[in-house]
Amino acid sequence: MPVYEFYCRKCQKAFTAVMHVSEHDADVAECPECRRKDEVEKRLSTFTAVTSRKSASV
Ligand SMILES: [Zn+2]
Repeated sequence: MPVYEFYCRKCQKAFTAVMHVSEHDADVAECPECRRKDEVEKRLSTFTAVTSRKSASV
């Protein structure tokens, strides 16, 4: 299961959440502190952060 890292600007706290593939592009996770989404921004996951360079073979 892919784990994504999020950051809540309101709480100024980072948290991680598991999201399904179908929703990882469209939405962000709910902040566990304030239960809001509009102050949450998605950070690069640890899986994709190291492979930001696109390959032409894909
Ligand atoms: Zn929050």
